[in-house]
Amino acid sequence: MVEMMWAAMLTRPGQRLEIRRVPVPEPGQGELLVRLEASGVCHTDVHVRGASDFPGGAPRPLILGHEGIGKVVTQGPGATRIPLGARVGVPWLHDTCSHCRECLTGWESFCATHRAHGYTVHGSFAEYAVVKEAYTLAIPDQLEPAEAAPLMCAGVTAYGAVRKAALEPGKRCAVFGCGGLGQYAIQLAKLTGATVIAIDANPAKLEAARALGAAETYLAGPEAGTKIRAAGGADACLNFAPTPRVWPTIAEAINPLGWIISVAMVAEPVPLVLEWLTYNGVRITGTSVGTRQELMDLVAIAAHHGLRIPMERIALGEVDAGLDRLERGEVEGRLVIDLARGLPRA
Ligand SMILES: [Zn+2]
Ligand SMILES: [Zn+2]
Repeated sequence: MVEMMWAAMLTRPGQRLEIRRVPVPEPGQGELLVRLEASGVCHTDVHVRGASDFPGGAPRPLILGHEGIGKVVTQGPGATRIPLGARVGVPWLHDTCSHCRECLTGWESFCATHRAHGYTVHGSFAEYAVVKEAYTLAIPDQLEPAEAAPLMCAGVTAYGAVRKAALEPGKRCAVFGCGGLGQYAIQLAKLTGATVIAIDANPAKLEAARALGAAETYLAGPEAGTKIRAAGGADACLNFAPTPRVWPTIAEAINPLGWIISVAMVAEPVPLVLEWLTYNGVRITGTSVGTRQELMDLVAIAAHHGLRIPMERIALGEVDAGLDRLERGEVEGRLVIDLARGLPRA
């Protein structure tokens, strides 16, 4: 008899998620079956559900979710490194090609043919998920599953941005946008010894930023750039604010030879004068999720130092309504499915 599980499935892009009974997947060669304990809900899930970002070739229906944490319950053939019962992650990366230049030079998250959970393969909005043993990681006991879940995408994205910013004591790092990702970035930037500056349009978010270690806070607006300049500028600007309106402030605040790191998905163009780059040597780059090594390092940092962000726990059956609230900007911090909160009735 085939064992069944509950899963939140997207039948067709643009439709609502359906909570359904489906067969528990079987792990193939080098794969592990994970019984999920928690799964973070990400803005990318909103885009996938809404069809604005539904990848070609994805299974239909598709189980969304790429911030899963759970325990290994079955080892597929050839999967022997991670023992049964170990707590592991179901992160964004399901696997990569492992032979392109990006994969071979330590930039695997930029692999053009990588596959992602809840995107090109089934994800973690379910009771069980299948991961590649080579692409998952052990989650230390110090981290509670719901607390570890958002590290799998939001946390590692913020960590990737901080790592690219070349921070050290004496450097000044400006974090634009102080939601969940920005809050991770503030804490991670502070751990480098840099002075952290927070910018947000919401005074309450600035207060939270200060509590997490930001030394200076600025309300977003036309004056912010001049004020940051007057206080010493920024050697790195990390943008987590999904709006082109931050650009004038970034251009004003950034110091010569500084790093501008683009994280938020800003589709609209911003004015960039090349002569300005010629004179000041500013470096501009982008970042998206992270490599397996970055994820392991981040989990170790979180276990050792603790990383705090506000979190709201929901049941699996509440995930579709949760995506609605996320879309409307009504969620404080991160939304996390806690499987301990119960399952729908069969
Ligand atoms: Zn995500
Ligand atoms: Zn590759």
